[in-house]
Amino acid sequence: MNNDCLYCNKNQTQKDLMIEICELSVSTVFLFKEQTYKGRCVIAYKDHNVELYQLSPEELLAFMTDVNKVAATLAKLYSPAKINYGAYSDKLPHLHIHLAPKYVDGADYGSTFVMNPQKVYLTDPEYTEMINSIKKELVK
Ligand SMILES: [Zn+2]
Repeated sequence: MNNDCLYCNKNQTQKDLMIEICELSVSTVFLFKEQTYKGRCVIAYKDHNVELYQLSPEELLAFMTDVNKVAATLAKLYSPAKINYGAYSDKLPHLHIHLAPKYVDGADYGSTFVMNPQKVYLTDPEYTEMINSIKKELVK
């Protein structure tokens, strides 16, 4: 737990960026509000300040299984050509992975995704619809 961390605190900064979808075995899944890459989500590990290499094999498997579940769900729901996985965290050392679905005719296909293009935002009913669809697949 770190007081300055938006994943630990679930503070307003986090609420401005993402909406919680649900919890999985060792992580929490969020819908990224900026939706240039339709279906974009963030999966945050339950504990603060860990690198993937610091997880035990069991923790690593559990986390990657969560990530994989979300990726499979996004693939099923939105049929992207590819899902990009981003784990950066230079200034926010709480283990989290961005999932950015990429589409052949969509933004930045064939290149890295932009962290926050600040271009595509949905209406509240659209966010709710998306969250419900993803949650329905994840919580079975
Ligand atoms: Zn944290």
